[in-house]
Amino acid sequence: MAQHATSAALIDGKAIAAGIKNQVAGEVRELRAAGLPIRLVAVLAGQSAAARVYAENQARTCTEVGIEYSLRELPQTVSQEELDALLRGLAADKTVTGIMLHMPLPPQINAQQSQYAIDLLKDVEGVNPGNIGHVVYGHSIIAPCTALAVVTLIESTGISLRGAEVTMIGASRITGKPTALLLAERGATVTICDINTRDVAEHSRRSDVVVVAVGKPGLVGVGHIRPGALVIDVGINRIAVMDAAGKETWRTVGDVAFEEVRRVAGWITPVPGGVGPMTVAMLLRNTVRAARLVYGLEKPFGNSGPD
Ligand code: NAD
Repeated sequence: MAQHATSAALIDGKAIAAGIKNQVAGEVRELRAAGLPIRLVAVLAGQSAAARVYAENQARTCTEVGIEYSLRELPQTVSQEELDALLRGLAADKTVTGIMLHMPLPPQINAQQSQYAIDLLKDVEGVNPGNIGHVVYGHSIIAPCTALAVVTLIESTGISLRGAEVTMIGASRITGKPTALLLAERGATVTICDINTRDVAEHSRRSDVVVVAVGKPGLVGVGHIRPGALVIDVGINRIAVMDAAGKETWRTVGDVAFEEVRRVAGWITPVPGGVGPMTVAMLLRNTVRAARLVYGLEKPFGNSGPD
């Protein structure tokens, strides 16, 4: 672990993500040259403005690296049967190498049921409960993007996870739990905290690494962090602040009280510019992995088979 610094080293998610994006662009070019195009289809059901902005950004990012991206839009009134039938059709379509389903979905849709309909090999976000389950076996076919982003950011610092004490604050099925499992798979001793934990700080204060994925601004303060620890902030919260002219405006912050925690931590990820861009980079990497699986260039369980 790093010595207690006067100010934490920033883990620059944006820069690391840019390097991965370049790498992905090279891999996409090679596949294309071999006559193996990567085709990602995103499904957007309903009228969520946030999902639409995300879809537009994604389209641009995919185009930049040479991934063919198309968006299938369904009305707010779409039924579970219609949505699941579309997803199954994409699974059967040999020209499609990747599938993703935008959240949030209209209220009549059971998200988990639809995620089951995403082909396991084409599931670029790693959200099919089958793919999340494979993480337990330590041989993930395609793991959830944010969990992969967290692991990659920690490993970018060069610290060893083997034997490290890690506290994972937040235990959602799509972020907290898979992240904890990927870290445990690398030899870390992981404590998972959620809303029921009696004293989160008691656990996090003795940890070498603290990962926070809750969705509450300022939840983790200086009292939660051991001097020199590595802090990964997954949270994305929009808060109202006053600008210099006294006008109300919006700012994006994480779950960590950044300014106070950076004074004691050894490393810290900023929000924005930390986990967010890395999650996008992992989505691109997963999209290439999915295409390689679909084209039979890689095996779902690696070459040694499941353990
Ligand atoms: P979620 O709402 O599904 O789960 C929140 C978890 O936090 C639950 O396990 C809950 O028990 C726990 N929790 C709530 N209050 C707590 C408290 N006081 N102490 C300890 N644990 C508490 O959330 P999610 O989907 O995992 O997302 C969490 C945050 O991460 C959100 O802000 C979300 O926007 C963000 N997120 C960011 C990215 C990214 O790319 N950066 C990706 C996914 C999620």
